[in-house]
Amino acid sequence: MLRVALPNKGRLAEDVRELFGDAGLEVRARGERALVASLGGEFEAILVRAKDIPEFVADGAADVGVTGWDLVCESQRELGMLLDLEFGGCRLVVAARDDSGIATIDDLVGSPRVATVFPHLAQQFFEKAGKRVTIVPVSGATEIAPHLGIADIIVDLTSSGSTLRVHQLHEVATVLESSARLICSPTPSAQAARSADELAEALSSVLRARDKRYVMANVPRGSLESARRVMPGVNGPTVIDILDGGTYVAVHAVVAQSAIYRTVADLKALGAQGILVTRIERLMP
Ligand code: AMP
Repeated sequence: MLRVALPNKGRLAEDVRELFGDAGLEVRARGERALVASLGGEFEAILVRAKDIPEFVADGAADVGVTGWDLVCESQRELGMLLDLEFGGCRLVVAARDDSGIATIDDLVGSPRVATVFPHLAQQFFEKAGKRVTIVPVSGATEIAPHLGIADIIVDLTSSGSTLRVHQLHEVATVLESSARLICSPTPSAQAARSADELAEALSSVLRARDKRYVMANVPRGSLESARRVMPGVNGPTVIDILDGGTYVAVHAVVAQSAIYRTVADLKALGAQGILVTRIERLMP
């Protein structure tokens, strides 16, 4: 049984459940406050705070886990990274008050106080930049610290930047780029490593399929070469005979979602008929 630590609530929880569900590992918890959940098959989930997941995995309480890369790095624990899950994207940034006159970290003078929920990453960042700072650890609402006079600048997560703007703060530097990751113990048993790899492959096949579509079209046989240019597919399009006397052939291929509009218009221009565009659940090239 592979034990998977998943966020019980917060920003990442819903996307994690959706991803595991799409991979056929539906998170089935008994009630909202359940600490364990079945994932079906050989997997079991423990539902905990995103912040605690690096510790749980590093200590062996779970074999693998999903949490933010920022939290993994801040934990300072040695962990393996199996997969970038591509959601929960954000940046850990240094920010200063709009009226501070601080535009870059070169404008920092003396030993400014830095409020942050990420004391290790903040300390390391300023050390590397050759800047002396005094870290002021807080457990939340970091943006208010410069306005309360308990810090000169902050190190905090941002995605759209709107929370910083609302608090009249602006970015000064980027400390770390983050997204949700599948992590594992650095020293798994052979069995756990195999199951963890299979899990990573299942999740990655779902992620790979998300921005792709499967296109099917009946193309005049004489336009096959042009159809190949319109729909190159993964290894060239699949071409299937149609029992219509040979006038048309069915052409199938995987197409990037961003290219669907152009592909359909080009197929139409080739005289294609019966064009179908469908979602793909999983894609393993
Ligand atoms: P939680 O505290 O459980 O809501 O989870 C927070 C995690 O969500 C962070 O550690 C980040 O990895 C991720 N995240 C993504 N965007 C943001 C954001 N704008 N602010 C804070 N956390 C974010």
